[in-house]
Amino acid sequence: MNDVIIIGGGAAGLTAALSASRRGAKATVLEAAPRIGRKILASGNGRCNLANLGAMRYNGDTALASAILAAYPVEKVLSFFTELGLVTIEEAGGRVYPACGQAAAVLDVLRLALDRQHVQIVCEAPVTKLTKSKAGFQAVTPQGTFEAKAVVAAFGGMAGGKLGHDGGAYQLLTKLGHTLVSPRPALTALVTEKKAVKGLSGLRLPARLTLCDGAKPVEAASGEALFTDYGVSGVCAMQLSRRAGELLNQGKQPTLYLDFSPMLGLIPRIYDRVEAADPFQNVSLLLSCLKERQHTLLQGALLTGLAPRLLAERLKGMSLPDMAKHLAAFPAPILGVRGMENAQVTAGGIRGSEFDPRTLQSRRCPGLFAAGEALDVDGDCGGFNLQFAFASGLIAGENAARV
Ligand SMILES: Cc1cc2nc3c(=O)[nH]c(=O)nc-3n(C[C@H](O)[C@H](O)[C@H](O)COP(=O)(O)OP(=O)(O)OC[C@H]3O[C@@H](n4cnc5c(N)ncnc54)[C@H](O)[C@@H]3O)c2cc1C
Repeated sequence: MNDVIIIGGGAAGLTAALSASRRGAKATVLEAAPRIGRKILASGNGRCNLANLGAMRYNGDTALASAILAAYPVEKVLSFFTELGLVTIEEAGGRVYPACGQAAAVLDVLRLALDRQHVQIVCEAPVTKLTKSKAGFQAVTPQGTFEAKAVVAAFGGMAGGKLGHDGGAYQLLTKLGHTLVSPRPALTALVTEKKAVKGLSGLRLPARLTLCDGAKPVEAASGEALFTDYGVSGVCAMQLSRRAGELLNQGKQPTLYLDFSPMLGLIPRIYDRVEAADPFQNVSLLLSCLKERQHTLLQGALLTGLAPRLLAERLKGMSLPDMAKHLAAFPAPILGVRGMENAQVTAGGIRGSEFDPRTLQSRRCPGLFAAGEALDVDGDCGGFNLQFAFASGLIAGENAARV
């Protein structure tokens, strides 16, 4: 019989299995997919942004996130990986990547360490039923029924389409007395009115994005905005999607304002969150810039060399003040956010307050632990989600081994 069963072979599950086995527990990972660590491989565009050295940026159960990352701060997560042999580098915004630029390196060092610890990994073994038993727990899979003294639920969330689950995994814990905080897509693209982005699809421009509720600026991010045929994507747009979704759920009609001043070299390019401020703040700056160009260039060529052709086409024939307004506060009414298939993380999940933040053991079902995206914690772009998954996995595994 196993000491610990880990449901899910992702970032949280693999670190949980490793920390449990290092404390002498016989651990088995039950993974639904044919392979483990698929989200690790897909993360950071195949480069895996595994942690962030900056201040913590979490949503949902922020108290749980703070407790986990106080017990297992980023330095500890990174030294865990260094000990496994992974060489990492820090990039802009405190983002940490494997130095070789390959997400596979992260999974490889974990896999090697798990092999050394003789952790059993059973793939194509979705857990369909989890019950209490005399020995502890029984997990039913198509590959058989597994028993253990303790269980770590590390089945992740619904984000990422086929890389996530369909929501069914949550019932494993709700049937044991836990509560599900409604799962919703986060870190996803914004769907805007079609006519706002018409003709711009494929444009990738440095911009400052402000999310407004009516006239009120709510949240802002700066970076590369990517225009699509349905709206706006890119990290900066994704950062605003959680709040945009909340406003829409409250029946509000949020608007996204794009300020292209960073593209024009008028304000610095920042690739991060920025203070939400009046989205029209740079209109007069843009107007004076356009007026200056008007002295030296023909009206028809005013935007040539300043804005990309697709955007210039949209502004052709406008008065200078209107052009300035569109370049500094380009409005795109938000109709929705893209769904789970396109999201990088799930907001919501199993309620974090039902677990002891020191051990991640359930307060409702002793012997049951949870870690990673399965819980009601989601982070910003920049490595925060994997960092939470690794840190919480290490804590849950260590404590599950003590049961
Ligand atoms: C495209 C993409 C890019 C991303 N890039 C980054 C990034 O660069 N940095 C960052 O910090 N975060 C990133 N994220 C988010 C990050 O990958 C996740 O938050 C993190 O992987 C969560 O880890 P986890 O172990 O909790 O869940 P997962 O990695 O999703 O692992 C859960 C595992 O459980 C398995 N499973 C589900 N149900 C069952 C069941 N019933 N029985 C058995 N197994 C089950 C799943 O198949 C899966 O393998 C990205 C996400 C996506 C989709």
